Amino acid sequence: MNPNVPVGRMVDASPQLCTYSPGDTDANDCGVPATWHIAWDAQMENGLACDQHMAEAQQRFAYFDRHPISPDCGMPNAHWFFELKRCGYPDDPATQEAAEARRQHA
Ligand SMILES: [Zn+2]
Ligand SMILES: [Zn+2]
Repeated sequence: MNPNVPVGRMVDASPQLCTYSPGDTDANDCGVPATWHIAWDAQMENGLACDQHMAEAQQRFAYFDRHPISPDCGMPNAHWFFELKRCGYPDDPATQEAAEARRQHA
């Protein structure tokens, strides 16, 4: 048994739930785990959506950008990286690795 378990970095485990809520009431909350992070406009008004509600949003609304949900999505002061298709922090090694990987594949 190797006692040095290679655990990853600490991630926030708070639930990232679909924010679809017709009428914006608790009773109508979708509440299933989100799979997409959507930016609605250039001011970065944003929301989280499950597959079903992402599909509905695509049919009904124009949106600015989207990417698959990641642990940093919706976290305080996280940056939206358009080219990396993820949220993160500029000084986070995971963000720098993703940027580096992208450069190598460019
Ligand atoms: Zn939903
Ligand atoms: Zn995000």
